[in-house]
Amino acid sequence: MNRTLSRRAWLSVCLLPAAITAGCNAVGWQAGELCKACQRPVHKNSRTVALLDGKQAVFCCPACARSEHLQSTKSVQIVELTDFNTGKPLATAGAYVVRNSDVNPCTEHTHAPGPDKRPMQTTFDRCSPGELAFAGKSDAEAFARQHGGQVIDFATLAR
Ligand SMILES: [Zn+2]
Ligand SMILES: [Zn+2]
Repeated sequence: MNRTLSRRAWLSVCLLPAAITAGCNAVGWQAGELCKACQRPVHKNSRTVALLDGKQAVFCCPACARSEHLQSTKSVQIVELTDFNTGKPLATAGAYVVRNSDVNPCTEHTHAPGPDKRPMQTTFDRCSPGELAFAGKSDAEAFARQHGGQVIDFATLAR
């Protein structure tokens, strides 16, 4: 993949009104960090840290980290989330997740055609439906009122 081209494609996606609604202005990428599983740049407001067979690894979002568990025999334990509203690290205990809202930082950028004009991703996307973490139930519910999706407490999700 041509990195310069694809980065320009991401930037242009950020200029679309829908992406601005999703918070492109306020929300950035964690510089230099790539998801352990899908190699996407890690979005700083959905950064997820998990233990993968006992070793700490950074994932782009909770959905991607949990997908790693479903697709392999490796044990994956999410140990740290990021509060989508503040971009601050968030403990899993007491966290809430909004699943399948209309905001998904991971997939926003993958629908852009690659240099060969074909979509860069197949129809399966491990980050979809998206999962975003929030510090409290009321934050999660407020977000879901605006963007749809189900509010699930993290302990239930991780089970
Ligand atoms: Zn990922
Ligand atoms: Zn993801």
